[in-house]
Amino acid sequence: MSSTTGQIIRCKAAVAWEAGKPLVIEEVDVAPPQAMEVRLKILFTSLCHTDVYFWEAKGQTPLFPRIFGHEAGGIVESVGEGVTDLKPGDHVLPVFTGECKECRHCKSEESNMCDLLRINTDRGVMLNDGKSRFSINGQPIYHFVGTSTFSEYTVIHVGCVAKINPAAPLDKVCILSCGISTGLGATLNVAKPKKGSSVAIFGLGAVGLAVSFPCLLYLLAFIDAAANVKYVLFCLRVFKDQAAEGARIAGAARIIGVDLNPKRFNEAKKFGVTEFVNPKDHDKPVHEVIAEMTGGGVDRSVECTGSVIAMNSAFECVHDVRSLALLSVLIKLALQISESLTLGNFQGWGVAVLVGVPNKDDAFTTHPINILNERTLKGTFFGNYKPRSDLPSVVEKYMNKELELEKFITHEVSFSEINKAFEYMLQGDGLRCIIRMDA
Ligand code: NAD
Ligand code: ZN
Repeated sequence: MSSTTGQIIRCKAAVAWEAGKPLVIEEVDVAPPQAMEVRLKILFTSLCHTDVYFWEAKGQTPLFPRIFGHEAGGIVESVGEGVTDLKPGDHVLPVFTGECKECRHCKSEESNMCDLLRINTDRGVMLNDGKSRFSINGQPIYHFVGTSTFSEYTVIHVGCVAKINPAAPLDKVCILSCGISTGLGATLNVAKPKKGSSVAIFGLGAVGLAVSFPCLLYLLAFIDAAANVKYVLFCLRVFKDQAAEGARIAGAARIIGVDLNPKRFNEAKKFGVTEFVNPKDHDKPVHEVIAEMTGGGVDRSVECTGSVIAMNSAFECVHDVRSLALLSVLIKLALQISESLTLGNFQGWGVAVLVGVPNKDDAFTTHPINILNERTLKGTFFGNYKPRSDLPSVVEKYMNKELELEKFITHEVSFSEINKAFEYMLQGDGLRCIIRMDA
């Protein structure tokens, strides 16, 4: 038992006093964990765009003063009553959405939307007593998504903490606690592209580029029916060295990246994105541009922007029946193929997956015919991974060299320079910035 168990810990935290104003490093008191809570020492944290939206509070409910941060890695300092799964010294990743393991969602294989601990961006207190564990001279400071990792110590519900391999370097795997797992899971668990698929990715930040990574894996893996691990690893090596070449090897398969920021395109090439569309370069909606580029639409699209305009385009750029039926007729006419011959499966099969966090008042609208035409619209938090059950194995993918995290980490700053991480993200500069709590 550590000497701080059961005691208030005074430590440094980056406090957001007002919307959009630089964070201030303050001395905060962190109360001990209560029933089913754990107190963590955070070693590394990083910045995800979700922190920035709620800090800016432009389209979101303002709740201040608040300690943001949800992508992080740390060590358990002490545990509250009833916690049996974790003990001091365990290496962990906190997650913004939890897994109580008891509710019908946790018991279903098909959901990670825990009834008790699913993401709640407007709650700033702990569930147990409706109060904050952070204070400055007795003034409570609100939590953010149950994690508040921009603090040297934080208190989290045990259901939002995944225990991981202690050998995993926390300065790398911390980015798996939100963005990268979300992008990976959005592809592997939700979009599930098939052999030779075409995929459009809206938003080429860390989340979007984590989407592109398994897309390429899929495409490469499917070239060879054997698709064994060695082969995939070989392809990954090829991909690492020459991403465009890797995509070329994948044959007709295409990964189309869509972003408003042209700076993103160079970075995205390293992740296997082969074609780029900047909506600003076109005088028609981007889904029409993609439909033209692909002869009717892509097989899958994944939206990682948070913009409702992009969400609409992501949905409307996937295959529908009408355009493919038309394409089928045109091809048959051009090649003078008999009507009795089939040209593949010309029914609508496009699947669009929404990942970006929208503004509070956004509404998604589309004409019902877009759905009748057999497009599918899905959405996901945390890539449908169950945080406690699934995240440890995602960490193992990194440990087994099946997943590269280093290329997502483009900046590193000390805790005292945390506002620089916000500047990088606001300028669309780089992907993930690691914030070292000890520096
Ligand atoms: P990021 O800022 O690094 O990347 C977003 C990219 O989208 C930027 O490059 C930006 O230029 C681009 N973009 C913005 N509007 C666009 C538009 N209309 N068309 C095309 N491109 C556009 O952000 P990130 O950290 O990668 O996060 C991406 C999104 O995913 C955010 O909305 C974030 O809140 C969300 N998110 C969701 C989950 C989840 O579980 N669903 C988890 C993590 C992040
Ligand atoms: Zn996040």
